[in-house]
Amino acid sequence: FDKVDILGVKVDSPTMGQAVETVQGFIEKGESTLIATANAEMIMRATYDEELKTILNAADLVVPDGAGTVWAAGYLGHPMPERVAGYDLSQELMKLAPEKNQRIYFFGSAPGVADMAKKKAEEWYPGINIVGTRNGFFTADDEPQIIADIKAAKPDILFVALGVPKQEKWLYAHLEELEVPVSIGVGGSFDVMAG
Ligand code: UDP
Repeated sequence: FDKVDILGVKVDSPTMGQAVETVQGFIEKGESTLIATANAEMIMRATYDEELKTILNAADLVVPDGAGTVWAAGYLGHPMPERVAGYDLSQELMKLAPEKNQRIYFFGSAPGVADMAKKKAEEWYPGINIVGTRNGFFTADDEPQIIADIKAAKPDILFVALGVPKQEKWLYAHLEELEVPVSIGVGGSFDVMAG
């Protein structure tokens, strides 16, 4: 699948199936990869936030999250097959995790929310292995411990819900150190899961 330049952000155009397959390939390779879910808001923000734009263009996969992104690609003459929402992609990956024996970590959202999302994931995807949770409110002093805890839990997939662009910037800054094969910023997904 191709990349489509939308206002300077190169967005991939996979189907959901291809996105899931690509992520599985990243997990098998085991190198630290960053996945971003580009909705219209994120792309607009990148037009005035150079750091975010750089990160998105360095990401290993940028999926078209939202009707606005898919519409923009079509408008620019590069139709995309479908919308690949971050929430939906995260659910597809969780659904596959038990059979693939993959370990998952939830980092972000208000105290208690990631724990509630973990409970929901365990209910929805029997056998899923959520190897750790941490709320998303912290100071710089807390960061070494957060990173050490994530590393020690050895997840295959790290979902980070700190909001845009904090989650992308935090992940980009710590990607190599974390040594997690796949890291994804998921915005409000834990809140949605927790209900
Ligand atoms: N959040 C957090 N730490 C922060 C700021 C926000 O964990 O310092 C969480 C917040 O509790 C919420 C998520 O990040 O769960 C952001 O959700 P939102 O729907 O606003 O995401 P966005 O629209 O930015 O993707």
